[in-house]
Amino acid sequence: MLLSLFLLFLGLFVGSFLNVLSDRFPRNETVVKGRSHCEYCKKELQWYDLIPLFSFIFLKGKCRYCHKKLSFSYPLSELGTGLIFFITSLFVLNGPIYTYDIVIKLIFYLFMASSLIAIFFADLKHGVIPDKIIFPAILINLLYLLLFNNHFLIQNLLSGLGALLFFLLLVLVTRGRGMGLGDVKFSFLIGLFLGFPGVLIGLYLAFLTGALISIILILWRKKFLKDSIPFGPFLVLGTFIGLYFGNLLYEKLLLLMGF
Ligand SMILES: [Zn+2]
Repeated sequence: MLLSLFLLFLGLFVGSFLNVLSDRFPRNETVVKGRSHCEYCKKELQWYDLIPLFSFIFLKGKCRYCHKKLSFSYPLSELGTGLIFFITSLFVLNGPIYTYDIVIKLIFYLFMASSLIAIFFADLKHGVIPDKIIFPAILINLLYLLLFNNHFLIQNLLSGLGALLFFLLLVLVTRGRGMGLGDVKFSFLIGLFLGFPGVLIGLYLAFLTGALISIILILWRKKFLKDSIPFGPFLVLGTFIGLYFGNLLYEKLLLLMGF
């Protein structure tokens, strides 16, 4: 529990960094571009402007210098990452004794959670799922499967390929409207990470929530039918639910269908 609380705290800082990554990768800026600055007045931010959550609340969501409203993605990414790190640790650690395998698994899951969160914000804010996040995540996933979880290697590879083919078909049929190659590559990562049946649940929930939110946004006149709504954030949400509740939901689904 102590470790989980520490990870919650760590997640606040990691989330702040992931939010920066999600802005810099789509613009092809390097990660180490120097200090963070206000995106309106370009003033360099001081360390006390960058304390997760605290600074945002203290500054009432406005830049200290030009008083323009700061993006809501700051507190959202910080709090979201903190909570997801916390939940992930509860999910992976189910006892007070930490073996080598469990520690490796925890690090791997935290890395994957971080990649997913960076994808969420990159696609939400810029409509791009950067290769610089997808490719390293696929590589680390393959390495983890090969070295520490190889009895799932074939199954998860097949899940990834299945998801990839399904998305490729969708993109071809819809001629790339609404979905792009970024989503296709991402779907392979999701299958590789979740395996079966998680991938099924994750993708299903992504389509379900994506459709629901799109209808709400269109009815609310926040978006129009011709607008494209990025699908990546829904895929990320579906992946997290598939990861934590995939098996449970799959069993319920089979029961519902009378198996
Ligand atoms: Zn400013």
